[in-house]
Amino acid sequence: MEDSRSALVLFSGGQDSTTCLAWALERFQHVETVAFDYRQRHRIELDQRLVVLDAFRNRFPRWTGRLGEDHLVDMAVLGQISETSLTRDVAFAMEKSGLPNTFVPGRNLLFFTFAAAIAWRRNIRHLVGGMCETDYSGYPDCRDNTVKALQVALDLGMDRNFVLHTPLMWLDKAATWALAQQLGGPALVETIVAHTHTCYLGERGPRHPWGHGCGACPACRLRKRGYELWVKGTA
Ligand code: ZN
Repeated sequence: MEDSRSALVLFSGGQDSTTCLAWALERFQHVETVAFDYRQRHRIELDQRLVVLDAFRNRFPRWTGRLGEDHLVDMAVLGQISETSLTRDVAFAMEKSGLPNTFVPGRNLLFFTFAAAIAWRRNIRHLVGGMCETDYSGYPDCRDNTVKALQVALDLGMDRNFVLHTPLMWLDKAATWALAQQLGGPALVETIVAHTHTCYLGERGPRHPWGHGCGACPACRLRKRGYELWVKGTA
């Protein structure tokens, strides 16, 4: 049977999944991480996630012993079948559907399904993802009902009792910064600002108060606005 004390976190190296990792480390005794290489245009996320994992091991002694194996799954096929600005060299735009062309159809469904396959093999009960439908780009696979339906499908299809956790689902970006502060204090906020990567353009560049990035793409704008609202609220 699966181990209720263990969790597997979808960890991309961005602000949201880093906050989710801290959330899981506070709750579970053994926490593993997984990321997916779908030939995203910018590899910087995949590099930064290792920097963040190092920072977690070195700066947070109470989490060091809990942090387990890191998995990297090759999902090149997803890049092949999806024509989006995250996987192709095309500019960002809004589609007629109202979704940004950064939408990779089914991405989070596949990520959770692959994560569940890993969790099944490793007897891990809890899966954690940074999906959020509060301050988001409208991706339908980030919605609470999508994740709940997927949990039912995975439990039936794999004959397990997985629990899919989405601690950020009802938080706006300002509240996500506040949660990081609550979980890991200024050291975690500093780790997120310095090392996590969110920018769609893959730009690191100079450091802003809210971190590195172009400051203009939708991901940077959400991150920046959330940070500023959070700082204003704590001042
Ligand atoms: Zn950006």
